[in-house]
Amino acid sequence: MNAATPAPRREESAEQRWNRFSVLKTGEDYLASLRNRGTRLFLFGELIDEPADHPIIKPSINALRASYDLAIEDPELATAWSPLIDAQVNRFLHIVESPADLVKKNKMQRRMGQITGTCFQRCTGLDTISVLHSITYEIDEKHGTRYHHRFLDFLGEAQRKNILIAAGMTDPKGDRSKRPAQQSDPDMFMRVTRRTDKGIYVKGVKAHMTGGWNQHWICVMPTMNLTEEDRDYAVVGMIPGDAEGITYIYGRQSCDTRAMEGGDIDQGNAEYGGQEVLVYFDDVFIPHEHVFMDGEYEFAQDMVARFTAYHRASYVCKTGLGDVLVGAAASIAEYNGLEKVSHIRDKLVEMVHLNETIYSSGIASSHEAKQMPSGIFMNDAMLSNVCKHNVTRFPYEISRLAQDLAGGIMVTMPSEKDLENQEAGDIIRRFLKGRDDIPTEDRMRILRLIENMTLGRNAVGYLTESMHGAGSPQAQRIQILRGMDVDTKKWHARKLAGIKQVS
Ligand code: SF4
Repeated sequence: MNAATPAPRREESAEQRWNRFSVLKTGEDYLASLRNRGTRLFLFGELIDEPADHPIIKPSINALRASYDLAIEDPELATAWSPLIDAQVNRFLHIVESPADLVKKNKMQRRMGQITGTCFQRCTGLDTISVLHSITYEIDEKHGTRYHHRFLDFLGEAQRKNILIAAGMTDPKGDRSKRPAQQSDPDMFMRVTRRTDKGIYVKGVKAHMTGGWNQHWICVMPTMNLTEEDRDYAVVGMIPGDAEGITYIYGRQSCDTRAMEGGDIDQGNAEYGGQEVLVYFDDVFIPHEHVFMDGEYEFAQDMVARFTAYHRASYVCKTGLGDVLVGAAASIAEYNGLEKVSHIRDKLVEMVHLNETIYSSGIASSHEAKQMPSGIFMNDAMLSNVCKHNVTRFPYEISRLAQDLAGGIMVTMPSEKDLENQEAGDIIRRFLKGRDDIPTEDRMRILRLIENMTLGRNAVGYLTESMHGAGSPQAQRIQILRGMDVDTKKWHARKLAGIKQVS
């Protein structure tokens, strides 16, 4: 965004909203685009003047910045040709045109995980645009609306400007036994509060929003299936992250204040981190051009199911983090002089086996993608759910093995400031050494990285997000139950067993 542009007005037109964005090419352009936005963001009970420069927030911005840098360094992997604007675009803004496109996307996600060691936050937007392509097409087919056309217009501009989109999906849900329209607080799920000839107003909260502040646009959409009485809750629209009426409240992460202590050893991964925010929309305006669903409640369930089919396979991102953790565990074994010990090699083999099992289910889900009526391809839902279900478990076991190889020193080690103190530092350097040829500081750094990923800041991305992101384990089990077709399996078994009535 240009620093000189006036403050956003509540009822801006779609064109005015787009005009406030410049074309972003590099990671530096992206960093500049986040400054001077005038957003309201709370962290530790205070409104933050310039979130882009805050030491706790900066690592999460760096992780997204890497998606711009990778597109320049490896365009074969991280860009694609867009027929929509007849130009090469960042793969995070590309509509999937084939199973091969999805496989490439997964490979890019693994690479991004290796580079950042954290959640790089950009896939929710990517998966959202894929869902919108097919859903808007099908709503138009049934209702004669113009959502698909509007969506393609938006996407073309998003590709041209190379901006970021966040998915605002998860509503707080309140009393889980009640539907949206039955809640005592009508804003417990996002809803349309007003409609005018220019657009609509929405109110509500989106929780756990991945990279919510770091993005340029937020796509708000339903979080679950809806009925006719929930019609006002069936809303999908794109909102600029600096629109009037939005308040962000930053999510805490384990050990996050280490970023405010200075130094770069104790953070484990000082460069990169994830971000989740609670976002309140207080009667925020969306011009009609950016509304892609308004009242078509019967499409909400499909929309959520399609998002999860894409996003649960996107969790191959965690195999990139797994690569980093295997590398860290192998390094500490080496620094301790134990790399040839057979049980240590076996533990590394187990870690790799688990990591590649996640990858294989994700990649298989992409290879088995099916074409949708709108022309784009969607991941195989069964294999995508299996991928995400593996992710709810295997990173925990990989982390356990990494901690096993790290030893207790990972959590009893003195601080970086003690290392800097002459007297304490001399003792630490002498007695916390492993192999003679490895500096004590390097040994401490790799131990802090393992701590970061299994207990600290990036354990949010590697462990708890693996458990609950894109749906908690039971959500995948329900999908697996729905698709598992036991009757066909019984038929095969009974036929082979020689049972006469095989039906
Ligand atoms: Fe992307 Fe993985 Fe983060 Fe989801 S959890 S946004 S797939 S990096």
